[in-house]
Amino acid sequence: MKKGYFGDFGGCFVPELLMPPLMELEEAMKAILPSEAFQKELRDLLVNFAGRETPLTFCPALSRRLGFEVWLKREDLLHTGAHKINNTLGQALLAKHMGKTSLIAETGAGQHGVATAAAAARLGMKCTVYMGAEDAERQSSNVRRMRLLGAEVVAVESGSRTLKDAINAALRAWISLQGSTHYCFGTAAGPYPFPDLVREFQSVIGREARAQMLERAGALPDYVVAAVGGGSNAIGMFSPFVPDASVKLIGVEAGGTGEPGCMHSAAINLGRPGVLHGEYTMLLQDDDGQILPSGSISAGLDYPGVGPEHAHLAAVGRVKYGVAYDHEALNAFQTLCREEGILPALESSHALAYVLEHAGEFKPGSRVLINLSGRGDKDMDIVEKALNL
Ligand SMILES: *Cc1c(COP(=O)(O)O)cnc(C)c1O
Repeated sequence: MKKGYFGDFGGCFVPELLMPPLMELEEAMKAILPSEAFQKELRDLLVNFAGRETPLTFCPALSRRLGFEVWLKREDLLHTGAHKINNTLGQALLAKHMGKTSLIAETGAGQHGVATAAAAARLGMKCTVYMGAEDAERQSSNVRRMRLLGAEVVAVESGSRTLKDAINAALRAWISLQGSTHYCFGTAAGPYPFPDLVREFQSVIGREARAQMLERAGALPDYVVAAVGGGSNAIGMFSPFVPDASVKLIGVEAGGTGEPGCMHSAAINLGRPGVLHGEYTMLLQDDDGQILPSGSISAGLDYPGVGPEHAHLAAVGRVKYGVAYDHEALNAFQTLCREEGILPALESSHALAYVLEHAGEFKPGSRVLINLSGRGDKDMDIVEKALNL
């Protein structure tokens, strides 16, 4: 396979001036990341700061009702409320070992910004977060959290004033800041080597879950299901299972309201290949190749592209990509609250929704492992409004 590519997808489509920091990062991934000293320090942060390992929870009520075993990997229990801290701690520590003193990051809903700000504070680094001005208004509590954690938040006024524009602004800023600064990218997408780097740090999810299933259930899962935004929690969960031919992998994209012509974030199911944010991948775009605005009830899935490895895994058929709609995610949210006592993030609710809506397609008696990527406290206002509670 060509370096930096997953089949046809991936690559590194960036201005010349961004090649040096990306090559420096690739070098650090080879020289620093595998070292015993780095791995030991990262392990300590993941265990004693972030709260690994996360539990594997069996769902008795759901399993009884559905006729197959439902298991949840509990990334919702991590510090800052989601899997994102796995990646930000890894990248921040790597940057520190590279001699960088500052981090920049993009954020959409603010979750990755908060996780980056927390990692930066913990490691004594400066942090600047680029956020679309529209998002900064919608997600003001996360802006406040980032500021309390010592980060500077820059509101990006260009384009649609959302995540896509925040990434462009952060990439542009990195050109002039690269000497002192690492760009802590938030998902398993972007130019090479980010898709590899983020998968590396998130695959702790799948490694733990695989060992936990073997120990608790005495067997591998038959199905592994995860929600796909940019694709980091899903690739982290899937990658240790990819070589296990018996394990079916299902990624779930956000279908929006499901009305004809509605906004959605289903880049694999409904997009076409093209270049965005330095990579060739599946994208939501119009006939002229202009990026279409994405939309979902869950802010964390609201991205018009998807990581290139997912585009490849879809193309070769190793992973099946389905869609869950807003109302299905809301139902799944309520179901998990009431039947299992867990408030899931609306992102993770999409993965659960797919299993509930397609229950008939799962073999009776089989083992279904779902990645619960985050907790739902952040979504209470949206849920209450949508359900008229
Ligand atoms: C950000 C986020 C996602 C989507 O991002 P991925 O990179 O696709 O994982 C999913 N779930 C939660 C809880 C998130 O915060």
